[in-house]
Amino acid sequence: MTSFWHPFAAMGAVAGHELTITRGEGVYVWDSEGNRYLDGTAGLWFTNIGYGRPEIAEAVQAQMAKIATYHTFGDYTHEPTTQLAERIASLAPVPNSKVFFGSGGSDAVDTAGKLARRYFHEIGQPERTVFIFRDWAYHGMHGFGTSVAGLSPNREGYGPMIDDVVGVPYDSAEALQAAVDEIGAHRVAALFSEPVIGAGGVRPVPETYLKESRRIIREAGALYIADEVITGFGRAGDWFASNRFSLEPDIVTFAKGVTSGYLPLGGVIASPNVAAPFWAADSPMWRHGYTYSGHATVCAAGLANLDIIEKEKLPQRALELETVLTETLQPLLELDAVTEIRSGVGLMAAIQFDPQLLADDPNFAAKANASVRDHGVLTRAIAGGGLQISPPLVITEAELDELVAGHRAGIEAAS
Ligand code: PLP
Repeated sequence: MTSFWHPFAAMGAVAGHELTITRGEGVYVWDSEGNRYLDGTAGLWFTNIGYGRPEIAEAVQAQMAKIATYHTFGDYTHEPTTQLAERIASLAPVPNSKVFFGSGGSDAVDTAGKLARRYFHEIGQPERTVFIFRDWAYHGMHGFGTSVAGLSPNREGYGPMIDDVVGVPYDSAEALQAAVDEIGAHRVAALFSEPVIGAGGVRPVPETYLKESRRIIREAGALYIADEVITGFGRAGDWFASNRFSLEPDIVTFAKGVTSGYLPLGGVIASPNVAAPFWAADSPMWRHGYTYSGHATVCAAGLANLDIIEKEKLPQRALELETVLTETLQPLLELDAVTEIRSGVGLMAAIQFDPQLLADDPNFAAKANASVRDHGVLTRAIAGGGLQISPPLVITEAELDELVAGHRAGIEAAS
């Protein structure tokens, strides 16, 4: 029996039934028994450049041969760390931004939450402590992310965590305005918002909602935190969804696609106004950071990954393929089990199952997930009873057909 306690797993069911992935190439991965799967989810939305790219291994090897890393507290840095911060700042939705590194999306969200409150403390508005989050939101599983989870099961059972959090419907600007009015605009610190809700079921919203919510938060004098852990680095059809929709966020959280998951990295992009109090000549030390903030080898992997994304124009590719993906998925609506396809922003989509079917058989999404896997395609059951589609951005149109055919066969077999 295994000693590995899996994340997001019911170990009683998983122990003894694990799937060991041993290698990957392009959009395919293989298990320890030699079975090949088309990876329809890019791992957990991260393998933007596909598997097995030697450029990353070479960059990692070269950096490790010099020094794996040193720490970056105080005045220490590394060449790849400084370069990657520069590079991300040059792609950021707001010019002249600053980049703070961590190790993944959850600590990026923690950093963003602490930064927002600390920013208002620095500028003399310490009463701004309230965070607004949207239903269905997923912001990772550290303290802040758990506290602003729009999926309530992810929040329950831990007792009090971060206080002063308020949930709102995910797609209503009027409800957001009403919440701001009720809280009192002067008390709002920030809105946490995924430009496209991902793990909560892939829920694109009209651009008008994004623009309106941005306006409401600006007028409240609060900060707009765009959680781009999924949507960053090409997935939403631009370097960031915030660029595509001109959101001008005060803070962006990123992870996943920044290294395409080859090594763990995440962080926060702070716009110049948020960074200013911390970068002034007489600024106090911000007592925040992690042992692996700016890890040299991880940043070298990030630079090599961004080279590939840029050279292969993967954000444009995701934009071009977004209508192809929607069209390729439409025929699945012929299946009795499927009631909705949600897509339209980059290479991310959800196949929604019939609510009545899910009420009759609460395990249906899990069954369909297993069945699609048996048909050679890796998918994932997501919140609300659907399946996640988020392939590597290097996927070809023929491979997209194969991905959808595997879903069709798997869902039919499960029905
Ligand atoms: N924020 C969003 C929008 C995410 O989708 C995720 C993970 O899927 C996170 C934060 C947390 O990232 P991580 O799992 O790297 O901690």
